Amino acid sequence: MMVQLQNVTVRYPNDEIMGPFTFSVSRGDFLFIVGPSGAGKSTVLKLVYMEQAPSSGRLHVCGYDSESIYRYQIPTLRRSLGIVFQDFKLLNDRNIFENVALALRVTHTRGKEIKRRVFRVLGDVDLLQKRYKMPLELSGGEQQRVAIARALVNEPQVLLADEPTGNLDHKTAELIMQLLERINEKGTAVLMATHDTGLIRGRNVRVVEIDRGKMSV
Ligand code: ADP
Repeated sequence: MMVQLQNVTVRYPNDEIMGPFTFSVSRGDFLFIVGPSGAGKSTVLKLVYMEQAPSSGRLHVCGYDSESIYRYQIPTLRRSLGIVFQDFKLLNDRNIFENVALALRVTHTRGKEIKRRVFRVLGDVDLLQKRYKMPLELSGGEQQRVAIARALVNEPQVLLADEPTGNLDHKTAELIMQLLERINEKGTAVLMATHDTGLIRGRNVRVVEIDRGKMSV
């Protein structure tokens, strides 16, 4: 099991309680978390990348246990996850190649290896020819593909995507979905949160629903 939550709750300072959340993601899974804005989807993803600690319950993520992980291990944990957000979070003063390479530079990967891996993931998202462009020269859909390439460059076991199509028009959203499905078919598990139930239609994916902090399958 790559991700497993067992009765995990989060109590926010205003005493609002999210959860209990119980679900798991196995190798090769594609799991959707759907629910309206404010339902608790981002909270679930933050638990998984350990931005948010549980108030009760326990979770296991890529070999780490929320009860025994040390704070200094969290960056290492996040390298076995790829994370994609609604607002891309690219560095607008660096070109596309550098945005993707940065994740490898911090781990002191050799230059030749960086080039090999960045070229491969940019090829996977069909943006190799735009590698010297700056983020703001690209469309929203292209910027999200760069963010996906950056998330994949460390070859994560699980890709987390928090409302990845939220800033995109319908047609572009569909193309991003097809890209995520292709990535999933190649073996990366995907855990994606969205309010857009239309994206599920016709797809062979598992779905958990959240509403006002409560999860139902
Ligand atoms: P979603 O991703 O489904 O829109 P969130 O997980 O972002 O939902 O938020 C769920 C609820 O938790 C909301 O009511 C939100 O106001 C509350 N919440 C989220 N983060 C915090 C926080 N850091 N402090 C207090 N309340 C929060």
